Amino acid sequence: MLNIGVTGAAGRMGRCLVEAVYAASQEQSNQLALTAAIHRPGSTLLGSDAGELAGLGRLGLHVEPSLSQADFDLLIDFTKIGASLTNVDYCQAKGKAMVIGTTGFDERQREQIRAAAKDIPIVLAANTSVGMNLCFHLAGQMARVLAEDADIEIIETHHRHKIDSPSGTAVRLGEEIADSLGRDLNECAVYGRQGIGEPRNRETIGFATIRGGDVVGDHTVLFASEGERVELTHKASSRMTFARGAVRAAKWLSKQPAGLYDMQDVLGLR
Ligand code: NAD
Repeated sequence: MLNIGVTGAAGRMGRCLVEAVYAASQEQSNQLALTAAIHRPGSTLLGSDAGELAGLGRLGLHVEPSLSQADFDLLIDFTKIGASLTNVDYCQAKGKAMVIGTTGFDERQREQIRAAAKDIPIVLAANTSVGMNLCFHLAGQMARVLAEDADIEIIETHHRHKIDSPSGTAVRLGEEIADSLGRDLNECAVYGRQGIGEPRNRETIGFATIRGGDVVGDHTVLFASEGERVELTHKASSRMTFARGAVRAAKWLSKQPAGLYDMQDVLGLR
């Protein structure tokens, strides 16, 4: 039996994770259970029922302020950089596995996670959507076949509140394509165009960013050549896609030895 804890349980992703873990526990009650919900110390939501926060109704599982009060084998953590790193230390000391979805770690922080993964199994994934991770894989394969004749453009659309552009996912698509073609994305990326310039260089990878409304996240890779266009498109319509991917990662990780993994490992796409 895999006992799963969710930290940041009152956050946007945390509530979806509670819902996704609970749904999985209902489908496979002999395999996994939601046994802990943790939230930021000092939050007014401490002591609330995690199911009620997630809109599921009462589950009898109270939101706790610290990992030391919680009972779990594996922690799913979509919180903030500082909180996730503290949780990595705790899980390393206690021998607990982790799925980390928090984004924005710098190289030094990644090194801390890499070091902990010598002792415990960790999945670190800035995008846990199964469909998007398949797209990362396919984008490189498609580029290898099509790039000889095709211009490659990456178009992404997000809600009006998103302040960074292009999205991290769009950049990751660009990196997968550049790597598969032996190019350096830092040298071949073109971010936006305006005015009169040179005709398009086939060796570049273009990025176009659209912001508006409540779009959760759309990404298209366009391979445009003379006489045909091939498009690879992913559309996220709910955060539940990231939560369900995290639960899939948790189930897979529970059977792995210590090490640092990502969604490509989880999905067998290496
Ligand atoms: P959010 O702000 O709604 O939730 C984060 C929660 O963590 C907050 O409620 C905060 O109070 C809580 N928190 C902070 N410190 C804590 C601590 N010490 N202990 C427990 N809880 C603590 O943000 P969100 O939209 O849920 O996103 C959370 C993270 O997940 C971000 O880094 C975001 O970029 C990332 N994210 C990743 C994916 C993915 O696919 N990997 C998808 C969506 C979001």
